[in-house]
Amino acid sequence: MPTTVVTNIGSLVTNDPALGDGPLGLIQDAAVVLDGETVAWVGPAAQAPAADTAHDAEGRAAIPGFVDSHSHLLFAGDRTQEFNARMSGVPYTAGGIRTTVAATRAASDDALDANIRRYVTEALRQGTTTIETKSGYGLTPHDEARALRIAAAHTTETTYLGAHIVAPEYADDPAGYVALVTGEMLEACAPYARWVDVFCERGAFDGEQARAILTAGQKRGLVPRVHANQLGHGPGVQLAVELGAASADHCTHLTDEDVDALAAGARQTVATLLPGAEFSTRAEYPDARRLLDAGATVALSTDCNPGSSFTTSMPFCIAVAVRDMGMTPDEAIGAATLGGAKALRRADIGRITPGARADLALLDAPSHVHLAYRPGVPLVSSVWRGGVRELV
Ligand SMILES: [Zn+2]
Repeated sequence: MPTTVVTNIGSLVTNDPALGDGPLGLIQDAAVVLDGETVAWVGPAAQAPAADTAHDAEGRAAIPGFVDSHSHLLFAGDRTQEFNARMSGVPYTAGGIRTTVAATRAASDDALDANIRRYVTEALRQGTTTIETKSGYGLTPHDEARALRIAAAHTTETTYLGAHIVAPEYADDPAGYVALVTGEMLEACAPYARWVDVFCERGAFDGEQARAILTAGQKRGLVPRVHANQLGHGPGVQLAVELGAASADHCTHLTDEDVDALAAGARQTVATLLPGAEFSTRAEYPDARRLLDAGATVALSTDCNPGSSFTTSMPFCIAVAVRDMGMTPDEAIGAATLGGAKALRRADIGRITPGARADLALLDAPSHVHLAYRPGVPLVSSVWRGGVRELV
């Protein structure tokens, strides 16, 4: 494999405290050697071994590629009017999902594929090298499996979310819909999915239904994650921890017992915070400080979807988390990289360490702190994904 040394890095976030300063393992005047798809060496530039090619970072900061562990990119249609109405005073409800379901069912495979490609590329331009994405706008066995099959061509992190809302055809028979989601639909989707998810919220699925859906997925080899406690208090967080889910996502409305559960389950269930949703629905942000102080593991993610958070920008989420959720810049960058990797149970991403995947971004800035300090500014100048330099 040809090797590349990225040298003259002003400040490098490794996310390994053994390699550098503080929790982010910061190294000043650093270099990284890439060997094919893998990081081969990390350290001070003056000590870097020779490589086949060299890339001069010219003092830029380098960070691990962002790990966006929660998105909904398989959709068609447009909900600009709904956003416009909401920003004019109409409250957010889960019901708007039905609009996207109708448009997604009517879209061709090619149209859905073009959409996800566009959003994955858009995310890459902002430094995201791994993105999880979900079904959930098909709500029939055929349409859910189709969404996951198309998604699987773009990411290995695919999540079966047949339980996004009760399909319109089952509006009078939610039990029948849960039977479909745990039966025929699960069978159709499992070959294309790694994870199973449920929108556990008033107006979607209650705790009992969510438990049935997640345990059925587990029996089929899928690992649970849960949309939990977004719009109000509910059983989602407790259920996620009890079932050993990889993440409880949103965590906006938490009781002390919920926080305690996430702290006790910190080694397996990550609290994934999605500030784009609160931003775009003009709602109260989750309290990251409370979770961090309690000892929970926190990830940041975009929740990119056409209804409640139409952003692919991890830097935007970092800026909001620092400004309004009590996170320090270091904590937010850690949550957007290593935190996301933990939420996806991946040891090979979210860090720049020997043996990790060669996923990294260079910033047109001397420090990662600029991601919060300079909100809205496109700071990402180069990205390597699996050792391949993009955005050149
Ligand atoms: Zn979501």
